[in-house]
Amino acid sequence: MLRRRFLPLLLAFFALTAQAAPRQVDIVIAHGTVITMAGPNIDDGAVAIDKGDIVAVGKASDIARRFAGREIINARGNAVLPGFVNAHTHVPMTLFRGIADDRDLMDWLQHFIFPAEAKNVDREFVRWGTRLTAAEMIASGTTTIDPDAGASG
Ligand SMILES: [Zn+2]
Repeated sequence: MLRRRFLPLLLAFFALTAQAAPRQVDIVIAHGTVITMAGPNIDDGAVAIDKGDIVAVGKASDIARRFAGREIINARGNAVLPGFVNAHTHVPMTLFRGIADDRDLMDWLQHFIFPAEAKNVDREFVRWGTRLTAAEMIASGTTTIDPDAGASG
């Protein structure tokens, strides 16, 4: 009899407790303008991330109630958006930036870039050009590249 009365009460207590305790996640990025790509932007928004996955997006106040980040990034005054995708890149060619870049494509390629490649490209050129490009992409928010673009033109 006693068990029958207290079981619903006990279940209700656990349900309330479960709702009240925020879920631990790795990172919460809070108070930025969240650009969702699928709907309106969220001013004073937040993103909860756990184990590399976005687990929630919403108003910062709602995310703070539901999630506790081990790391919290204050994005106030910033946009929070998906990483950029560079779908066509010739990664090490960054080292040729600025060479005759006011010419039309075929003039530029045939008279400046192909000769520069023939003269300069080797293992070290590719190593340092790739490192520079990777650093610049990370700094600018590019998270994905097509590594085959350079091989196909
Ligand atoms: Zn290309």
